[in-house]
Amino acid sequence: MTAAPEPEILAAFEAAKGFMPPHEGLALYAAAVEAGRFGLPLLEVGTYCGRSTILLADAARRAGVTALTVDHHRGSEEQQPGWDYHDPATVDPETGLMDTLPTFRRTLHRAGLEDHVIALVGRSPQVAAVWNSPVGLVFVDGGHTDEHANADYEGWVPHLAEGGLLAIHDVFPDPRDEFTGQAPYRIYLRALASGAFTEVSATDSLRVLRRTGAGI
Ligand code: SAH
Ligand code: MG
Repeated sequence: MTAAPEPEILAAFEAAKGFMPPHEGLALYAAAVEAGRFGLPLLEVGTYCGRSTILLADAARRAGVTALTVDHHRGSEEQQPGWDYHDPATVDPETGLMDTLPTFRRTLHRAGLEDHVIALVGRSPQVAAVWNSPVGLVFVDGGHTDEHANADYEGWVPHLAEGGLLAIHDVFPDPRDEFTGQAPYRIYLRALASGAFTEVSATDSLRVLRRTGAGI
C-alpha cells in the first residue's frame, strides 16, 4: 500500500507557498516514506518556502530520521523580479534581495515539523562538497540551468545509499511544456544512462529512481 500523509499534514502542505502540485507531492511523500526505511536522512535540494519540505519532514518523522533541505534562499533565475515565477512577497525590503528563509521557518513551524528538519542555507554544490554521510533519498528541485542541475546530481548522488531513491522534479520531456528548460529532464536521462538507476515511478513531472548500482 502507498503511504499517504495524515489530513493535517496534507492541509499544511496545500496551504504552504510553493511549486509542488498535490498529486506530485503525494508521489514524493510515498517515495520519502519508502526511503525512510534505510534509517538515513532524507535530503532535498530546493527548499524555497518549505512546501515540499513538509512532506519530507513528515516522512522523516515517521521513520525516526531527519530531513535535510538545502537552499541559499535567494531564489532561482526564474523567481527573480521581472520573471514569471517571481513573488514580490519573497523580497527582503532591507536588502532588496529575495529571502525565502523566514517564510520557510513559518511554514515548518505551522506544520509542527521543525524538530524533524535541518535547514542547510547555502549553495548546493558548496554544501555537497563538505557533506560526508549517506542519505536514503535525494530530491532534486533546485536551479533549472544545466550547471545547477548537473552540480546537484554530481554533488548529492554520491551520498545516496545503494537502494536509496533519487526523485527529480520538473522533468519535462517535451520542451514546449516548460519555459525554465529541460535541465531536470537531462539529469533524469543522465541517471538512467549511468546504468546505476532503475525507474520506480513517474507522476507528471516527478520522477523517482532507485539507485541499483554504484556509478553516477
Ligand atoms: N521545493 C520547493 C520549490 C523549490 S524552487 C517547493 O516545493 O515549493 C527552487 C529553489 O532552489 C529556490 O528556492 C532557489 O533558491 C533554490 N536554488 C536554486 N539554485 C540553487 C543552488 N545552486 N543552491 C541552493 N539553492 C538553489
Ligand atoms: Mg520544482
